[in-house]
Amino acid sequence: MTKGFDRVSGLVDSYSQDMVRTMKEMIPIRAVSPMSGGEGEMERARYLEGVLKSWGLSTHRYDYTDGTGTARPNIISTVGDGQGVIWLVGHMDTVAEGDRSLWKTDPFALRLEGDLMYGRGTSDDGQGVVSCMYALRALVESGITARYKVGLALVADEELGSRFGMQKLMEERKLFGKRDMFVVPDSGNSDGSVIEIGEKGLLWLKITVNGRQVHASTPGLGVNAFRESIEFLHEVDVMLHSKYSKKNALFRPSMSTFEMTKHEKNVDSTNIVPGTDISYMDCRVLPDYRLDDVVKDVREVAGRKTRARIDVEEYVRDDPAPVTDANAEVVKLLESSITELRGIKPKKIGIGGGTCAAFPRKKGMQAAVWMTEQDVAHQPNEYARVGDMVADAKVFAHMAL
Ligand SMILES: [Zn+2]
Repeated sequence: MTKGFDRVSGLVDSYSQDMVRTMKEMIPIRAVSPMSGGEGEMERARYLEGVLKSWGLSTHRYDYTDGTGTARPNIISTVGDGQGVIWLVGHMDTVAEGDRSLWKTDPFALRLEGDLMYGRGTSDDGQGVVSCMYALRALVESGITARYKVGLALVADEELGSRFGMQKLMEERKLFGKRDMFVVPDSGNSDGSVIEIGEKGLLWLKITVNGRQVHASTPGLGVNAFRESIEFLHEVDVMLHSKYSKKNALFRPSMSTFEMTKHEKNVDSTNIVPGTDISYMDCRVLPDYRLDDVVKDVREVAGRKTRARIDVEEYVRDDPAPVTDANAEVVKLLESSITELRGIKPKKIGIGGGTCAAFPRKKGMQAAVWMTEQDVAHQPNEYARVGDMVADAKVFAHMAL
């Protein structure tokens, strides 16, 4: 048993009611991105900062103004003065509730049902936020001198790309050292047996095919944008899957994925040949490849088309970050804490989604994504388990001892 852990673990257990209360008070304070019509994280940040200060922790705020003129808050707090720094990163923003009729109860009033806490943002990323905060509290109140310094980063804007959150925060030069370690509780599985060490790059393409609209009885007079679109997408699909076919066993699925997804409505009538056709592709690309090459290859196919002009637009783009070494210190620490506390040996994996871990990784720092969760993010009736929230806080505190 790691020295001092008994005391820290007991403290975390004694906080469990407080942790539920923090969740209950946080969830009604909405924090949807102003870029998708929400109110932003400011009020929620003020509340959480107040909780940290009530424990005697000192906090610093880094606010960045987004395209709507709204200040996006990021909270930093550190405890201890050990050699390395372990950063615990949780994001305060949430997505909107979606179709309200699919929720059994108010998404913004925490509903507690046994061990389950229902509400928008309970799992993504409320659980991460609360378990990180209380890990710090336990370390401070235990009075134990931990081996590592622990930093808490409660960040903004994760759901829409982190431009005013983690990405920007990484540029605060005094804050992070080359050897700092990052733990991001924002993805995981139901028993905490997977540690994510790599993420695919993300590319959303908007493909606009410009033909010429005519009556369907005289197609020869126009250019059917829908047909051109079908042919183009099929050619691109075959090309991408054959050219970018490398497998990387770390990832699930092990290959890059290229999917046609959204297709915009074109004409209203069956007897009209559409002059414009707009579709979208979702591409998740292994770190072995460069997104620049993918875009170039798709545009090359578009350039060869003579009947219609095809525009290929990068709609959303997140270049893949380097994979964190499976033997990096942060992975080892997390692994040994999980094994000591739960008696399991976690697997190291890569995923298709993106988290805040990408930003330190792009700066050459080590980051691991881990939490115990039920995979209900962004769904109606999203929930988190009280037991997971408490148990994860123990793992985070254990890492520092
Ligand atoms: Zn999240």
